[in-house]
Amino acid sequence: MKTKSAIEPGEVCDSEWCEIRRSPIHGRGLYATKDIPNEEYVIQYVGEKIDKDESNIRGWEQIEWAQKTGDAAVYIFTLDDDWDIDGSGPENAARLINHSCAPNCEAYIVDNEETGEGEIWICSIRKIKKGEELFFNYGFDLESYEDHPCYCGAENCVGYIAGEDYWEELAELEAAPEK
Ligand SMILES: [Zn+2]
Repeated sequence: MKTKSAIEPGEVCDSEWCEIRRSPIHGRGLYATKDIPNEEYVIQYVGEKIDKDESNIRGWEQIEWAQKTGDAAVYIFTLDDDWDIDGSGPENAARLINHSCAPNCEAYIVDNEETGEGEIWICSIRKIKKGEELFFNYGFDLESYEDHPCYCGAENCVGYIAGEDYWEELAELEAAPEK
């Protein structure tokens, strides 16, 4: 059997720190191509800037698709009160970063000093060794959390893709006798 390349047509990974590879956790992921220091800007989460109305429409489309495919495939990020970023395009390699309950990166919104525009960057939150897979916490709330089991394999894995703010509530839900 021929092994398929991990990179699909139209895709680029515009970062000096990482590349696209197949991931044992889920589909494909991004992997450090060299040691990454803590608090480094690793890769920008790029996409189309859309207003909240458009975001709502696309968000629901992506959720429907996600429910059909079982993928946690929602790529819309909040930029500010007026704008979101739809990162579902192939030019956005950062969309392939998997979720983990013990992530080594976090998504930050930073203002570009030259343009003054807000940008989303995936930044390291600890030193990352060459070859490690990159992760951030997707920060999902608990709406339909059961559709999004987590296979991150971290010691502290809570079993579902959920933001840390929701972990306590999730534990209570899971402990409840009836679900
Ligand atoms: Zn997990």
